[in-house]
Amino acid sequence: MSTNATTRIPSLRMNDGRRIPQLGLGVYKIDAAETADVVVTALELGYRHVDTATLYRNERGVGEGVRRSGLDRDDVFVTTKVWHDDHGYDETLRAFDRSLAELGFDAVDLYLIHWPAPSLGRFVDTWRALLRLRDEGRARSIGVSNFRPHHIERLRDETGELPAVNQVELHPRYPQAATCAFDDANGILTEAWAPLGRGTVLGDPALDGVAERHGVTPAQVVLRWHLDAGRVVIPKSVHRDRIAENLDVFGFSLDDADRAVIATLDTNSPTGKDPDVFPGAPIA
Ligand code: NAD
Repeated sequence: MSTNATTRIPSLRMNDGRRIPQLGLGVYKIDAAETADVVVTALELGYRHVDTATLYRNERGVGEGVRRSGLDRDDVFVTTKVWHDDHGYDETLRAFDRSLAELGFDAVDLYLIHWPAPSLGRFVDTWRALLRLRDEGRARSIGVSNFRPHHIERLRDETGELPAVNQVELHPRYPQAATCAFDDANGILTEAWAPLGRGTVLGDPALDGVAERHGVTPAQVVLRWHLDAGRVVIPKSVHRDRIAENLDVFGFSLDDADRAVIATLDTNSPTGKDPDVFPGAPIA
């Protein structure tokens, strides 16, 4: 297998009719000063999708990397997210303007509510702001992150609108079957954050046999597992060889025996926070 700028990444159709490249680069914890270079590298290698957030403090580097790549802005799918400090209708509109200014863009491809933060009680107001941004065309698609089914049901019941995407922690140790089933039943694309379990799943010896059988790496096995399930994935790396490796996942396929091995990794172990609890501040 080889990875080069001609690698064709499949795209998936969202419920608003737009399309999202199924594999992208996550940039959480990439240093602001390094981000533009990493984004340029990924785009050179063939990535066309970058996932950032206000929290990551590297939106400026993402925008700079997209411009430096020489690609048309419309050929790169960029996601950013509103942090819960900015929940609320007016606050979210202002946060969005700050994100656009940092990115140096006229619009983002996907704008997500980063966490429901239910103790703050403002995610429905935040969602109403996203609906406005979508209707204005400045957020081309809108969605949520870390939402459990009951949070999404509240959005639907109070606004009549469903998100295009639900970005949640998902990897072989935490496969989130109930959330995936809900998303599927409601036409919402599930996007996996920490698709490699932040690197922790890769040392599991059960993956080695599958990887050896296909002549690939454990990271490639896990990413292929996500793609086969129809999910979007956004693995993070700053290393050119790993960025390339994580894209080089379109030349092999897994079978039921492989999937049975990967299923043995499920320990229902998230690495991240509980969306029903985080950030834990009391309702005022
Ligand atoms: P990940 O599962 O992508 O793991 C990244 C780590 O895995 C790297 O730091 C590296 O240590 C290792 N790695 C990557 N490629 C490898 C390879 N080929 N071989 C060996 N090791 C490899 O974890 P992540 O960065 O937490 O998640 C990915 C992206 O998801 C983030 O960058 C961010 O964009 C997004 N994210 C979103 C949320 C959210 O709340 N919405 C939370 C966390 C992350």
